[in-house]
Amino acid sequence: MVTHISASQIKTFRSCNKKWWLEKVACVGERHDTPSTLLGKAVHTAIEEFFKSNTSLNLSLYPFLKPSLPWLESVKDRVVGVEVEFRERGLFTFETIGYIDLVLDEGEYIHVIDHKTTKSFYWCKSELELLSDPQAQLYALVAYRRYGKPVRFSHNYICTQAVAEPRLVTCVFKPEEILRAVIKLASTVEQIEAVALIQNEGAVEPSYDFCNAFGGCPFRTRCDTRPRQDWLSLVGDLYE
Ligand code: SF4
Repeated sequence: MVTHISASQIKTFRSCNKKWWLEKVACVGERHDTPSTLLGKAVHTAIEEFFKSNTSLNLSLYPFLKPSLPWLESVKDRVVGVEVEFRERGLFTFETIGYIDLVLDEGEYIHVIDHKTTKSFYWCKSELELLSDPQAQLYALVAYRRYGKPVRFSHNYICTQAVAEPRLVTCVFKPEEILRAVIKLASTVEQIEAVALIQNEGAVEPSYDFCNAFGGCPFRTRCDTRPRQDWLSLVGDLYE
């Protein structure tokens, strides 16, 4: 039974209703950490301890964090929250949960920051993409309700394959963008409610656009992905 939703659930649902249904309603498939996700978690913990307990970053273990140090030091006096947990009831039908990596008070704005470890800056989202990202929308909404100020939302991209300056991609959520975000999120949650009631796997709509994304969907052997493959081979035929 679905009891809560999160930004990652909304993201999964928007990419493929069936993937979300298999994970959250049928409860099949286990998530396994990859070396990249384990490294990402370790870096998050290191930055969290840097702010919470004033612990130095272990630069011999994570040399790629060295260029981040001046920025992390420079924001210390503006920190109002680290690993901020939220459990919001009354926003949507389901309880809405999540953790915000870092919150800064920038005076006019509240700055919500999510650290992202990446192998390449090629994968950075643009400012425009962030505005429609469910995590950015949900976190901005929660921060706006909690702190009562317009919100800057940033992905702090940290490249783990090179000693490179971190990249901060930022978008701004003023009240009008917050309202747009609420409308979009509410519409997705409404669709989630409907799909959550489906009991038969065959009745859930698959989407073949993301079957091979991010290392491949774990349900590829379960789904009939042939329509997508046929379509791709048809496109390939046109160029022969
Ligand atoms: S394999 Fe493709 S269609 Fe099937 S659940 Fe995964 S993303 Fe959806």
